[in-house]
Amino acid sequence: MENIFYGPVFSRRFGYSLGIDLTPYKICSFDCIYCQLGKTSTKTTDVKRYVDIDFENFKSELKRIIDGTSRIDYITFAGSGEPTLSSDLNDLIRITKQLTSIPVIVLTNGSGFSSDSIIDAVSISDAVKISIDASDEAAFKKINKPHRSITFASFVEGIKKFFSKYEGKILIEIMLLKGLNDSDESFENFKTLFDEIPFFYDKVKKIHLNNPFRLPESYGLLKSSDKQTEKFMSLLPGKTEIIKISKGHGNAIKHIHEEDLLAKILDIINRRPSSAKDISQSLNININESIKMLTYLINEDKVYYDIKGKEKLFFLKR
Ligand code: SF4
Repeated sequence: MENIFYGPVFSRRFGYSLGIDLTPYKICSFDCIYCQLGKTSTKTTDVKRYVDIDFENFKSELKRIIDGTSRIDYITFAGSGEPTLSSDLNDLIRITKQLTSIPVIVLTNGSGFSSDSIIDAVSISDAVKISIDASDEAAFKKINKPHRSITFASFVEGIKKFFSKYEGKILIEIMLLKGLNDSDESFENFKTLFDEIPFFYDKVKKIHLNNPFRLPESYGLLKSSDKQTEKFMSLLPGKTEIIKISKGHGNAIKHIHEEDLLAKILDIINRRPSSAKDISQSLNININESIKMLTYLINEDKVYYDIKGKEKLFFLKR
């Protein structure tokens, strides 16, 4: 069985989270312009088994990791792409919940919720985090670049259906991008959209506003102004937070394992600018873990990235 576990990695939102990656790099129904994983190589809506997972092995490996790890706050089904495309998702959440009381969260782009079987697949999770970056078709196409079969209307219908059925905690994440989804008009559209979603204000526990930070100029993307970001804070008063990766986040890199990884990553980049995928392959770690470490190093001002050809490469700051 491929190693589908990574971490635990620290995030301010979820604490120490053990990641489970069900889609190989990079299979997704979207191709978001800000995606940390780089360009989508297979844009699809096919729900199937992308990774060969033996359920007994999964169970024993998960138990071994949980027993050997001092702190795990969440078990996170994410992926090097969209996890709800995996036909094993429901079985694996079920096995996980039978094994442990650690809460299970699924991170999704929400594009599959027009399908009842995908809603059923996540129904037993404790929480779902859905990215909603657009409040109209034009922004949806520009920002998320969805699979051709997904329209903004079908996306919204799916989200509404999901909210009607799901009983767990729901978190929303919006990537705010200057000129793309942060205008006053866009704000009003988001408000209208959220008003139309059943039980939105009861079921949503937090809205996370994400601002891309330290984007290279070649991305052509800019973070939203403080004024507009502040405006979006009123989308759900008291429950909307700006996600900032502060210097304090560095305190989270505590494990020797992580310090060791950081040193190895710096060494690789020092020898040759590398992509997150190169690094994950060289060090035999999951790509999400390499991205987590690279994000930390960017924040520490030790690394920067840029697009070269079709690749997102990470460079050492000298
Ligand atoms: S949905 Fe997530 S994984 Fe897919 S392209 Fe967007 S950011 Fe990347």
